[in-house]
Amino acid sequence: MLVLLGNYGGYCLFLHSKIFVKVLQDNYRHKGKRQQLVKVVKAKGITDGRVLEAIGKIPRHLFMDSSFEDHAYQDKAFPIAADQTISQPYTVAFQTEKLEVKKGEKVLEIGTGSGYQTAVLCELGAKVYSIERQRQLYKKTSNFLNKIGYRPKQLSFGDGYKGWPEYAPFDKIIVTAGAPHVPKDLLGQLKVGGKMVIPVGADVQIMTIFIRKSPKEFDKTEFGEFRFVPLLGDKN
Ligand code: SAM
Repeated sequence: MLVLLGNYGGYCLFLHSKIFVKVLQDNYRHKGKRQQLVKVVKAKGITDGRVLEAIGKIPRHLFMDSSFEDHAYQDKAFPIAADQTISQPYTVAFQTEKLEVKKGEKVLEIGTGSGYQTAVLCELGAKVYSIERQRQLYKKTSNFLNKIGYRPKQLSFGDGYKGWPEYAPFDKIIVTAGAPHVPKDLLGQLKVGGKMVIPVGADVQIMTIFIRKSPKEFDKTEFGEFRFVPLLGDKN
């Protein structure tokens, strides 16, 4: 028997044979807050209409623990499982804008995390390949993205330092954790003409863009300071 226990801040809780089922909801309150977030991100300098549209469309509150739901549309990073974070929306928008994703491009993401950045890339029409080193997050996010209708090409549990040679080369690569150094394997898996956006540094990271000019030549441009959880070696 299915018993409706109540509606708590947009979630309906049902009791079914002693199992709680969380129903994913996106209501007018969430949508209103999301449009406010779009304004905030725009005011901070994001101009790409497609990126702003994706931020305005994706229900960020569903990518987080329900205890943070009321804060989901603040422009802040928040904790997710396995001691990791969902990135600040401005940071997601900044990296995505710099990536200049075109429909149908093959994009490798290092650090699937909550799947929010993955969803943004899917909204832009990218074929997304994403790697996560925390098994718990990999499993949870794979299920969740499927449940809410986002279909990245491939998700993998593994060490993003090594990239994904089976599917290389990539048009674009985005790294969503702070890299103490630039992984050579990732540069090597970029197409000629391709672009990688990666935060580089230990405590504080400099957002850095590499464009592959030829098999051996890369252009490097640095942007401002950002703070990410670290890109760690191996998998967990
Ligand atoms: N894109 C994520 C999002 O939207 O939620 C950002 C998540 S968090 C800032 C960075 C993620 O990178 C974490 O989930 C962390 O486990 C993962 N990570 C760290 N080192 C990694 C590695 N070597 N390979 C793959 N993922 C890694």
